[in-house]
Amino acid sequence: MTTRTARAAGAAALVAVLATSGCTGLPGAGGTPVTFEAGADGIGDPYFPTYGNGGYDVVSYGLKLRYDPAGDQLGGTATITATATADLSRFNLDLVGLTVSEVTVDGTVAGHAREGDELVITPESGLRRDSRFVVEVDYAGTPGTVRSPDLGEGGFINTDDGAIALGQPESASTWFPVNDHPLDKATYDIEITVPEGLSALSNGVPGGTSTADGWTTWKWSERAPMASYLTTLVIGDYRVSSGTHAGKPIVTAVAAELPTTYADPAMARTGEIADYLATLFGPYPFDSYGGIVVADSRIGYALETQSRPVYGPSFFRRDTGEWVVAHELAHQWFGDSVSIHHWRDIWLNEGFASYAEWLWEEHDGGRTAQANFADEYAQTDWSQPTGDPGRSGIFSRAVYKRGALTVHALRRTVGDDAFFRLLKTWTAEKRDGNATTAEFVAVAERVTGKSLRPFFDDWLYGTTAPPVP
Ligand SMILES: [Zn+2]
Repeated sequence: MTTRTARAAGAAALVAVLATSGCTGLPGAGGTPVTFEAGADGIGDPYFPTYGNGGYDVVSYGLKLRYDPAGDQLGGTATITATATADLSRFNLDLVGLTVSEVTVDGTVAGHAREGDELVITPESGLRRDSRFVVEVDYAGTPGTVRSPDLGEGGFINTDDGAIALGQPESASTWFPVNDHPLDKATYDIEITVPEGLSALSNGVPGGTSTADGWTTWKWSERAPMASYLTTLVIGDYRVSSGTHAGKPIVTAVAAELPTTYADPAMARTGEIADYLATLFGPYPFDSYGGIVVADSRIGYALETQSRPVYGPSFFRRDTGEWVVAHELAHQWFGDSVSIHHWRDIWLNEGFASYAEWLWEEHDGGRTAQANFADEYAQTDWSQPTGDPGRSGIFSRAVYKRGALTVHALRRTVGDDAFFRLLKTWTAEKRDGNATTAEFVAVAERVTGKSLRPFFDDWLYGTTAPPVP
């Protein structure tokens, strides 16, 4: 994410639901009785204890939804294919607001209850560990947002001409039932039906449109595993540009009410900027490219939604905005393809994306990365740590700017050859997965052959200015 204003996209209210009840079910292999237990209501993130859920791993989401902007009504069916990671008597999905009418598990009607932002599903019989199961949730209602006092607001907002679903660290649960944490990445097929004449944009490869009775269905599919906060839905009156870039679909869209001289030039450089970053970070990790510029001023940030970042309107007002395009496209490697394990590691996303702004500026004939480093180093508040910045600090300057300083200092310490070899090794080895800071340090030491733990201790966690390498 990039913020130009203080506004950041949000987090859900934390609702504690203890999952302790167990029951003894059918005998397992060898005649041993199987104890089925309730899946946890959180995936185990220290900053956000109720984000995500335990007991299963989602393989794919299939969403078939209809949205009527006039009445702000969203409804449809979510089909979720998952693998049990424990013997489950019941399990949770995250869902904010909306009314669930029916839930089935493997085609059989299942019990469902709402406990705050948790949807608790009790299948007719227990789910065995390692078994694959399919959940269908029928739901409808007026979607909303999630707010937190320290992180702002994100989620589904109704706009003048449609809607925008967007937000970090949590937003997906405002428009579909989901295991809402980056640790459970999955593939997505999204079908969204909107009034004829409006565009409905989302992640991944476009699957075409079909129109009947005044409604148009847009199809999108993302085959690479995607973290839930990287999903988006943007509905409205947009100038949509579709083509191919490097043999893959590229779809950019700019809100029709914005002048064509405003953000369209930056969107037109999307492929070129991605190609430049690929020379540094390794092959572009996804099957499609793109970007979406919205006009709604409530979106005061840009977010690296997978394969198709969403940009708030403010970025293109004072300059070309290419720096923010470089930032969000860098996230396609750092954050999207290689996702964080826990939110305390968010510098692995933002430090590299912020550094990419400097790299692009230098590449495009502007200031050097070294000059940006020197300026930023001189004005940094070193009392704020970059690694493990605290829940309220995940969008802080220490994560973004001190993170970029750390990346450049690492480059100076190990040299360009080792540095860029490390970046390409990291993005290749962790592609489509999750990673921690400790893993990054280990790969850095292995690739460069240097002992780097003291370096990272100083630059990520120290509270005084480290010496410039
Ligand atoms: Zn970012």
